[in-house]
Amino acid sequence: MNYFQLFANDQTHNNWLLFKESKEMPYLTVEPEFNRFVCVKCKAINHDAAFENGFSSDVKIRARGNIFISSDGFFCFDDTVRQIIETAKFKGIKFKKLVGTGWNVISLTCRVRADESVYEYSKQKCAACKRPREVLGFIRFPSQIKVPDFAGTFFTPKFDRGGKMNMDRDLFVTEDIALRFKKEGLKGGYFERLLSKDEEVNCRKAIATKQEFKWPKGTKILL
Ligand SMILES: [Zn+2]
Repeated sequence: MNYFQLFANDQTHNNWLLFKESKEMPYLTVEPEFNRFVCVKCKAINHDAAFENGFSSDVKIRARGNIFISSDGFFCFDDTVRQIIETAKFKGIKFKKLVGTGWNVISLTCRVRADESVYEYSKQKCAACKRPREVLGFIRFPSQIKVPDFAGTFFTPKFDRGGKMNMDRDLFVTEDIALRFKKEGLKGGYFERLLSKDEEVNCRKAIATKQEFKWPKGTKILL
């Protein structure tokens, strides 16, 4: 079975779920009811706790396509995607409806072991919450993550990416989910396949010898 990571396209408009934007200083403030989920210093968010708490009932979303990531790092699927997932009984995901919109915040419940050294953390850490200021790197190979045995599963590493405010965790799916998204004509992002063992060997060789690695055909599914 193949496995893919889902990426959302950039959006033209900012969509904040915990913050409020204003035209004057300070340009960005945390809504008081969500203060406890946000680090006072670096604005890092505890996405899990915020999800469990729920969101404001008067958020307005301006987003294109069927999926987007909010400016504060919450993956959101519209009602169409939610219905497809619930009808197909795909696992590893739960939803919180954004009241008054056609959108849902998602949270990934299937959390698996993964190689944390894949992520490169910057040495600079927040003085208040100790999170690294920046995180780079992506999981590329099944050897770096404990992939699920069953089809129809969303999954993510046990640890989040940390550091970055606008991207909480990496979202992986089994192949059937990626193909279903494509077949249903869903828009707003793309899937990238984890490389096979042979491809991993070639990729590592290319990196070691500083040569360009050609991504094999079919590694990317554009929505
Ligand atoms: Zn902090």
